[in-house]
Amino acid sequence: MTDLLPFLKSLISLPGISGYETPIREQIQAAWQPLVDEVSVSRLGSLHALKRGSGPEPRRSLLIATHMDAIGLMVTGISDGFLRLTEIGGLDPRVLPGQIVTVHGRRDLPGLVVQPPAHLLPPDNRSGTVQLENLLVDTGLEPGEVARLVRVGDLVSFAQPPLEMGADILAGHSLDNRASVAALTASLEELQGRRVQWDIWAIATAQEEVTLGGAYTSAFQIRPDVAVVMDVTWASSPGSPNHKTHPMGKGPTLGYGPNIHPALYKTFKDLAEKLEIPHRVEAMALHSGSDAIATQVTAEGIPSMVLYIPLRYMHTPVEVISMKDIHRAGRLVAEFAASLDEHFLDQLTWKD
Ligand SMILES: [Zn+2]
Repeated sequence: MTDLLPFLKSLISLPGISGYETPIREQIQAAWQPLVDEVSVSRLGSLHALKRGSGPEPRRSLLIATHMDAIGLMVTGISDGFLRLTEIGGLDPRVLPGQIVTVHGRRDLPGLVVQPPAHLLPPDNRSGTVQLENLLVDTGLEPGEVARLVRVGDLVSFAQPPLEMGADILAGHSLDNRASVAALTASLEELQGRRVQWDIWAIATAQEEVTLGGAYTSAFQIRPDVAVVMDVTWASSPGSPNHKTHPMGKGPTLGYGPNIHPALYKTFKDLAEKLEIPHRVEAMALHSGSDAIATQVTAEGIPSMVLYIPLRYMHTPVEVISMKDIHRAGRLVAEFAASLDEHFLDQLTWKD
């Protein structure tokens, strides 16, 4: 069995900004290849891994999606050797000043996100949060060298090393959603040597943070009978409202709402209770905000389920997560996949 902690640390030490997932995809591919029968890359850059089931043909199929892309920055201009930036995915400018980054120019360059002193900022941004358009990346290089090495459109990714805190806690950037990639890897390992009737498609989707494009196109290409999406949710911290956040270390959340097929929700809930896997119910009144938005409405509609791992400080470079919750999410998804039989689809009605 892969030791998940070093594996996840390796996953969050690689770039893979939305639309530019190659470094992380290659790493996931290396981990999944020995666990499945077939691996391919979609036209949009998602990783598709198929573990063939033993059920009769035409065989039913389950798609499990974990997005592998991460939020980051892109160079929009160069002023006197300093880089101007825009965001890829949702980034809170309050957390950026002082961050260590890697500028992916002609070669990788270390850099720092800096905010100019107040008197050098535009008059309307001298107090409060310095907006992204007024932040800069300092590479420490001379303007001529920066001009030679960096172009508009180059990517800038977070570069803090992972930080182990306490027995089971990991901090770092891109844990949204590499934590779920690690959980799905654990699921695939659990399924080794077990009799699984359905085809299982493990997917590391591209571009979730910007367009959900990976999930739309992979779900359309594969046309599974059921989709499960694994992602992260807001974990509680002091002062956070209890009804909107979920405690870390107390298991994954099971999504419930119009984006979720009610019979799938019930199956997961019953299974978690039977296996005594701690979990919470997460109300998703509008939609899940995840790849399930895409899977649910692809083709004729694919019954979808959402499983989230609580994570503190989402979309910052210091996301914090519990390894216990990752293990639990992985186990629950594996047990669900193993439980699927030829009659399962009959119970997927809209009666509940
Ligand atoms: Zn996510």
